[in-house]
Amino acid sequence: MRRAKLFLFAVLILGALGGAWLSSFSQPFHLIRLEKTGPAVWGILSRFELDVAQELETLFLVRADADDLTALRREGFRFTVLDRGAERKDYYLVAARSAEERDFLSASGRSVLLEGETWLYGGPRGEPSPPLPATMPLKPLAATSLLPYLHRPSSIPVTAATAPSRNGTIDLIVAGVNGGSIKSFVEGLQSYQTRYATTANCDAAAESIYQFFQGLGLRASYAPFTFRTTYSSRNVIGEKPGLRQPEEVVIICGHYDSTSNQAATLAPGADDNASGVAAVMEAARLLSRFDFDFTVKFIAFGAEEFGLYGSADYASRARSAGERIVGVVNLDMIGYVDAVPEDLDLIVNPLSEWLAERLKLAAGSYAGLTSRKIVTASANYSDHAPFWDRGYPALLAIEDQPLHNPYYHKTTDTADKLNDAFFVASTRASLAVLAELAQPSDPALPKTPVGLEGRVGTYSALFSAVRALRLTWTADPSAAGYNIYRSLTSHLNYQKLNSVPLTGTSFTERLLDPALDYYYVITAVGSGGGESNFSREIWVVADTTGFWAGGQR
Ligand SMILES: [Zn+2]
Repeated sequence: MRRAKLFLFAVLILGALGGAWLSSFSQPFHLIRLEKTGPAVWGILSRFELDVAQELETLFLVRADADDLTALRREGFRFTVLDRGAERKDYYLVAARSAEERDFLSASGRSVLLEGETWLYGGPRGEPSPPLPATMPLKPLAATSLLPYLHRPSSIPVTAATAPSRNGTIDLIVAGVNGGSIKSFVEGLQSYQTRYATTANCDAAAESIYQFFQGLGLRASYAPFTFRTTYSSRNVIGEKPGLRQPEEVVIICGHYDSTSNQAATLAPGADDNASGVAAVMEAARLLSRFDFDFTVKFIAFGAEEFGLYGSADYASRARSAGERIVGVVNLDMIGYVDAVPEDLDLIVNPLSEWLAERLKLAAGSYAGLTSRKIVTASANYSDHAPFWDRGYPALLAIEDQPLHNPYYHKTTDTADKLNDAFFVASTRASLAVLAELAQPSDPALPKTPVGLEGRVGTYSALFSAVRALRLTWTADPSAAGYNIYRSLTSHLNYQKLNSVPLTGTSFTERLLDPALDYYYVITAVGSGGGESNFSREIWVVADTTGFWAGGQR
């Protein structure tokens, strides 16, 4: 796409010379589907700098110009042109889950089936309300390329070999989760009658969440955004800065807006998604009483039902600002039970798979709750998806995938339909993994090391060049030494590399396998032998071009 940018620049210059030339020179874009036929497809995305609009389980959606198509054909890659004149359209991924919905899309003349339940809908650019039924979840295609943030799945299976040891502070947090408290949050949100994103009632609900965060002593803020040209809404953020490494951010979130078949006047949205927001508020209530190494953000997103606009705004701003997000726990519908015992479904893409493993462990040990990991790049219909688009690990916790709640997006989605025991358990599980990732401060332990950085370099050896990683960190006078840990999967199964604690502030590792990903943390060891929490994680991954990238996402 660098070519395309240069071309546009040339068009602008020519356009300035003679306006009439402009239309004849503007090159149309095609929206194509490129099949994930094998590992080579990942390399070709980078080599041709393709403008990737969406990743799905079996394919990529790509905005391609004529040169891109020629190159793909020449290299023998399988693709299909879905639409021409893509620069004049707005596209949405749409999930069709019933025969009526599929019939509607087939008859619309603007849709094509991509895979499974996923369709592509294309309407004229700037259309404020695409004529789609309210029941159908949708996601606009990202406006800018996902290419820099794509992560080729690792060849190493992502499973947890060992559970993190149980933590006393997390026991206290989990014990504090109260069924009456979360139910009252749901009833409070439901009392606004509707939280349809374009209504004043929805805005009033946002204000109540803001005041709740403020009342807890968190840094509360609104993040306003506009969507579909004419509308506006705002995300509500409560922030608890980390004590040791505040630029590392752990997020728990859920959308506070709702919808129904009478959305303008009545959309109680108890399960969808007062339940998720209630858990976010419960997390804020309980975690605000303790200190953590890393920053925790409690976020209620707006305008999710219109197309994930609040989370998309947040994730793209976070990426531009270089925010370091460790992981995102997105809760959407965590209180309804269709069959006892209910388990919690955890939806992740390959990059985020570790997060499901960690939540699964936390759910088992802190909440006695069974959960099910579902790894797919195709489940894009909640606020985790815009974080995937920007290369951040994010998880969706949901009662059932596919959905079984008969009150979904109806005026009957009310608090009395929720199952108290399951709602408490799913909230406990979510808070436990959140607190684990943020790492409770323990004054009895050595201080958590800060400033861990990684630099990948090529070092000349006698007969060959050797790739190596150099880790450095900030010296802490209270530490007697440091331990180095490594894993082939993020945030799981770290193995200690040194036999005795290191006394310096750097560590170099050579001869790493360029086909594998590596993840590192360090700890500080006190003079009495006690060991600190883990530092932030630094990674070295084989990226889509086959080269290494070091540092952090
Ligand atoms: Zn929802």
